[in-house]
Amino acid sequence: MFRTEFDDPEGVRHGGLLTFNYRFAPDGLCTRRQLAAEGLTPGRQPIAAQIKWRRGKRFAYLYRRDLAVPKRPATDAQLRALTKAWVALSTCPSCKTEYGYYIPKRYGECLDCFEQAGA
Ligand SMILES: [Zn+2]
Repeated sequence: MFRTEFDDPEGVRHGGLLTFNYRFAPDGLCTRRQLAAEGLTPGRQPIAAQIKWRRGKRFAYLYRRDLAVPKRPATDAQLRALTKAWVALSTCPSCKTEYGYYIPKRYGECLDCFEQAGA
């Protein structure tokens, strides 16, 4: 569902889209992430502009805040799926302990197990 954000960035870059430097975007334009922080989503509006930083290596699309729509609350099924995924990601496969954080992919198990295995 995030795919369209990466469709043909070159075409967009040369398509006359308004471009601002990071942190210099006008009021009323927000990134998808900024909208999400307020419980909003861009909805069906087109991209209004883009911001660039790191000399244009990173960019994000901006949407009009006044056209943003409230996020639909997640359904119970979605919440259950999220919880399940979260539990799976935060449970150590070695000692089956559930932690309050994701098990580091680098180690593949909790730090206790990792340290014991390395000792
Ligand atoms: Zn463990």
